[in-house]
Formats: sequence, structure tokens, C-alpha cells
Amino acid sequence: MQLFALRENERISARQALKQYDYRCLECLNPVRVRSGPHRQPHFFHTTSHPLCTQQGKTLFHLQTQERILQTLPQGDVELEVPFPNIGRIADAVWESKQLIFEVQCSSISEQEARKRIHDYETLGYRVIWILHEKRFNRRQLSAAEQFLVNRECYFSSIDIEGGGMIYDQFAIVRNNKRLFRGPRLEISLAHPFSLCQLPLNDQFPKELLQRASMRHIGFRGDLFDRLHATEPQDWFAMKRLEQHFNEKQGSCQSIKSGLSWIKHVYLSLLHAFLEKHSA
Ligand SMILES: [Zn+2]
Repeated sequence: MQLFALRENERISARQALKQYDYRCLECLNPVRVRSGPHRQPHFFHTTSHPLCTQQGKTLFHLQTQERILQTLPQGDVELEVPFPNIGRIADAVWESKQLIFEVQCSSISEQEARKRIHDYETLGYRVIWILHEKRFNRRQLSAAEQFLVNRECYFSSIDIEGGGMIYDQFAIVRNNKRLFRGPRLEISLAHPFSLCQLPLNDQFPKELLQRASMRHIGFRGDLFDRLHATEPQDWFAMKRLEQHFNEKQGSCQSIKSGLSWIKHVYLSLLHAFLEKHSA
């Protein structure tokens, strides 16, 4: 399902479309129709199955996250479902004046496809910001693609089919493709990007964040970089101690289990207090 389709050769929004009228999918050009309901966001659906069409595979979680991006960013400067014929792609959301593409991902993806998507948009001068949905991502086990993406421009969505929830950043400890610890969700504002080059990073920062910083160029208001930037080094204590703890215990399941219980009582409260103190 999708939010835009073609009427003859013009893009039309599902909000403007008429029921019982055939439109065409932006990607596969097959017939689509519009549907909506009191609790359902208007959207187009394919009248027959076309498994290779990525637009058909999108869910209401995906569409609601796209809508949130549209609502959050400056009106008139952002478009959803924009075709880029040169690279054969349709971007979920484009913030033209900032040259940013937002890609919402609710289904599994290969690392190769994630890399290729980033590369394809880069050749056109755009940077990709990934929004991974909790339905599939931010679980204990990371796929190769998620492991690749989390250190790049990447956040998570908890937005449900009625539009509730948030787009957020999160402090996490990942070892051997497993999330051993997750901090609280930290809501971010996509309308306020900033360059990470402006941040005076030093080796006192938690290593998890230094690793991310080495591969990211852009942050957003409310993310971990933004919040840490505004704090004193002693406030990073809880995160650094967590990292040290997992490094020391790495490789021993029993130790990790007992470590988690210990963290629950000591560092978790410290970390939450710190992150909430600096909530946007
Ligand atoms: Zn299609």
C-alpha cells in the first residue's frame, strides 16, 4: 500500500483520490485503488498481487511513519514517495532543501541492498536517514543490515497504525550482533538537523557513540549526540561504566546474566536519570 499513485501521468495523493476509480502504482504501474476508514489512513492498494513491487509491500506502520515525517518537517519543502527514475527508486520522503532522503524500513532488508540504496542516493547528492520500525528492528538480535545501519544516520520508529508513537534514538550496548542493553527511547526532532562536525568529540565520550560518530555526518535535535553535547563529562559516567562492564564480561553468558541483574539495580537507574534529565 502507498500514499501516492498516478492519474494519467500526474502524481495524486490518496486523500484526493476517488473510490472505485483505477489509478496506477508509481513503481510497477499496475492498477491501484484508494481505500480509507474512520480509523484508517487513506491509502492505495493493488487490485492484484505483485510481490516484486516494494510499494505493495508497505504496511500501515510504514505509511503512518511517513505521515509523521511529513507533519514534522517544514511544509512545502518535503514530499512523500518521490520517484527517482535515474536510479529506479521511490524515496519514502525527500527534504529537498537539505538534500535529505528519509527511508522507512519495516521489513527485513539485506546489507547489500542497504549499502546500494545509500550509494544510489549519494550519487544524486542526497544523504539517507534511516527510520527502522520496531515491528522488525531494535530487537535483541541484529541482522547484518541493522548492524551496518545503526552506526550510520539511523533512528527507530514506534509509530502505530493510528499514528501514535515516536521517532527516537536510543543508547544500546551491542556485542556479537546482540543487544545486551537498551536505554530509554529518546524522541528526536527531524526538523532540526545539525552537522556532527560541529561537535567537539573527544575520547571521554562513550565508545559506542564515538563509533557512531565516525560514520555519521548528521544528527538531529534530541538524539544522543545532541543530549550528550549539552552535558558535563561526569554525566557520561553511567554509559561508560556500562560499556566497561560488558567489555569485561564479554564471552561469558553466566557473567552477563548476573551483570544484567546488577546493572538493573545500579547503572540502569543512573542512566535513566541522566537521559531523562536531558530529555528535549
Ligand atoms: Zn506496484
